[in-house]
Amino acid sequence: MNASLYYYTFKIIMAGDAAVGKTSLVRRYIHHTFKENYLITIGVQVSTTEIKIEKATIKLIVWDVAGQKTFQTVLPLYFKGADAAILVFDITNRNTFNNVENWLKRIRETEPNSVVILCGNKTDMTYARVVKREEAEKKAQELGVLDYIETSAKTGDGVQELFLITVKRCLEKRLKAIKKVT
Ligand code: GDP
Ligand code: MG
Repeated sequence: MNASLYYYTFKIIMAGDAAVGKTSLVRRYIHHTFKENYLITIGVQVSTTEIKIEKATIKLIVWDVAGQKTFQTVLPLYFKGADAAILVFDITNRNTFNNVENWLKRIRETEPNSVVILCGNKTDMTYARVVKREEAEKKAQELGVLDYIETSAKTGDGVQELFLITVKRCLEKRLKAIKKVT
């Protein structure tokens, strides 16, 4: 047995418009599968997984919230206490990209200090791409979001990287907060 010296728990929320691939990204990362048929997420679905980085064991609690308008009034309840938000848009759908700002505003209203990672999903659909990487990187910068990651929940491209960078940012923040009080 390889005992961990440190144990952290992080709450991560998936944010972004309906059908951008939030549920698919979680499914790909945690369950290593992908489904073509579209299942509307009702309310919220919570999944957990553990990862090890050096001497630390990190428990991730991933909240997958529905993007449907009817759920938006209860969103602050879901966002509360989030260490990080993965804000997803669909690179083949400009509307979902335009809505990133609104989502960010919502997240920051509830958790002003949480880590935010911008994610452009569906990179396997190269022929249908309407949002260029450079454009998304620029937007992230303008909005004060540190990281922009492109993914395909279908092929799995970038998905490990997405969750790993999210966890690393959470760790950095947690360690900084610990330094401040000691
Ligand atoms: P959510 O509403 O944001 O949770 O979106 P879903 O994960 O339910 O995905 C919506 C639709 O997009 C489904 O039909 C998925 O199969 C499809 N989808 C999700 N991610 C990808 C991807 O990376 N590539 C492709 N081609 N389709 C995707
Ligand atoms: Mg969903």
